[in-house]
Amino acid sequence: MSRKLASELQVLRVEDVRDTNETRFLHLIRDQQPISQTEVVRRTGLRPGTVSVVINRLLKAGFLYEAEQAPSKGGRRAVYLQVNAEKAYAVGLSIGVCESVYVVSDFNGRILSQRTLRTSRTAEPFLRQLGREIAEHVRSNYGKARFSAAGVSVPGLLDRVEGTVIFSPNLGWSNVPVRHLFEQELNLPVIVENDSNAAALSELWYGPLEMSSTQSLLFVLVIEGIGTGFILNGELHIGSSVGSAGFGHMSIDSGGPKCSCGSTGCLEALASDPATVSRFLRNHPEYSASVHSVHDIAGLAMSGNQEARQQLEKTATYLGIAIRGLAHGLSPEVIVVGGQITEAWPLVEPVLRRELQSGYLIEGLSLPQLRRATVERPPLFGAVPIALRSILKNRKKPAVT
Ligand SMILES: [Zn+2]
Repeated sequence: MSRKLASELQVLRVEDVRDTNETRFLHLIRDQQPISQTEVVRRTGLRPGTVSVVINRLLKAGFLYEAEQAPSKGGRRAVYLQVNAEKAYAVGLSIGVCESVYVVSDFNGRILSQRTLRTSRTAEPFLRQLGREIAEHVRSNYGKARFSAAGVSVPGLLDRVEGTVIFSPNLGWSNVPVRHLFEQELNLPVIVENDSNAAALSELWYGPLEMSSTQSLLFVLVIEGIGTGFILNGELHIGSSVGSAGFGHMSIDSGGPKCSCGSTGCLEALASDPATVSRFLRNHPEYSASVHSVHDIAGLAMSGNQEARQQLEKTATYLGIAIRGLAHGLSPEVIVVGGQITEAWPLVEPVLRRELQSGYLIEGLSLPQLRRATVERPPLFGAVPIALRSILKNRKKPAVT
């Protein structure tokens, strides 16, 4: 592949570290607001001087504002920090295999509106039509708001500089200039990201507060395909190639079923949502009228259906074997699993834990934290911070940092 990819050009610069600190501060303040600067010092564990520098920068840029609040018993009026929700709005869009969803969010990350439509296989007319619809929605409902950008999450291999989908087997798209098409319709900067990377970012932005200070987080997204996103030092790790979209094509069983990539026994052919549904229906055709998705199987399993439970545990075993390989190699602090399979988390989690535990050379070694995704649609909720973060990156750089 001769195309020059963004990932080959990325290095962690001073500005990236600064942006990461600011993202963490914004997460904390958004979550705890109104919050005093003293409390920010306490919660971050940073020196008061460092906190003051970052806060002042965020105040100066208009991302935060100060609000006075009367103390309960005499004394000085305390100053509290709040995120300026009106600073910028963003469009978040998740293009999925069956349906696409877009949202409008304020700078707090609060979702103000949401719409869903069917995804079409004919990429360009579909994207142009969708772009026009979003532009119309924004114009008629948020005419006075300032929009920073649109974040788009899409499954497949991307050229991240151009915002082009190079190849998406599950969508059946190749060489689709997503960014270019949307920028023409929306008149906004558009940032395109792989769906698993977006999913990993959704944890940093919408996950529990401690996630914002997690140094290494592995997100495993199980939908029509299976992908991973990796957060390293609080930032998305891109790596030397087109990201980690190849995780689903890790071979788990050399005698396993044929995969869409032409190989056999890939994780995706064994544990993706379509693989789980077709295996369940092949073994139990009597459910063909009522089971169409992993959501349906998870519902049956959680209500005590043994057949559904067995098939989900089988899927979880395949996933556990593959995740174990990555966990041993990368040693992430936290592993997060997203997708419909997590609707049966009480059944899935013990199987994943068993597989994760089984390969450790030293018994009793502490395992990474393992949990299900915070939000129901990680690729969609990850598209929002992709857009909102661009305002942190694109503003005028201060002379002294
Ligand atoms: Zn494959």
